[in-house]
Amino acid sequence: MDGLSDMDGSDSMSEFLIPDEERAMEIFRQIRWSEGVYCPGCRSFNVYNRGFQGKTRRYSCKKCELNFSDLTGSIFENKKLPMGEMLYILINLDKKSINRLSDELGHKWESVYRLSKEFKENLSEKSKDLILPEE
Ligand SMILES: [Zn+2]
Repeated sequence: MDGLSDMDGSDSMSEFLIPDEERAMEIFRQIRWSEGVYCPGCRSFNVYNRGFQGKTRRYSCKKCELNFSDLTGSIFENKKLPMGEMLYILINLDKKSINRLSDELGHKWESVYRLSKEFKENLSEKSKDLILPEE
């Protein structure tokens, strides 16, 4: 499932609204775990759910015992903005100017600029699955 391009596209959706956090995390999980949740450490699918921390789901790997969350190793890890706003920026990267985005979201131009630059760099290397390139 390609969640991003679903939200993209038709003119009626050109004003994509910022999803609430619960919905935003659902969208993100659908994209990131489209083939199932796997361990970012050893890539095993043998993981179990450890419940939620806020809106983020947490997991443990049965194989290497790594604890991780929806965000671990993704381009959204350790960001201050809400997931809904980050998805909004991501979707509008090529459609709206940084000025317009920072206006709409009420954030500093610099923060939006830095985030979109980071998104662009990472996405060009690792396409659309929102995962950071391997170190
Ligand atoms: Zn593991």
